[in-house]
Amino acid sequence: MSGRTHARACPERSCVGCRERAAKGDLLRIVVIDGECTPDPRGTLPGRGAYVHPTLVCFDLAVRRRAFPRAFRGPGPLDTTALRQYVEQATP
Ligand SMILES: [Zn+2]
Repeated sequence: MSGRTHARACPERSCVGCRERAAKGDLLRIVVIDGECTPDPRGTLPGRGAYVHPTLVCFDLAVRRRAFPRAFRGPGPLDTTALRQYVEQATP
């Protein structure tokens, strides 16, 4: 038995900010709870998730592009205050 490497690389997701694909583990999962973008670093919260690099650059890009409401198909703007604080703290 040879030649069959299990090419199951880690799953990739697209960053909603820069739109680049990255390993799921390098991105921050975000879910919406009561109209508020909530960071889900452990990836355990239920529901639809969006992924973004945990950097202010990608976060700001995503906000400017209204990527979060689009990703979550929400009817209106989402509160990103808590998420921004999280990203600010995560960014060295
Ligand atoms: Zn990004």
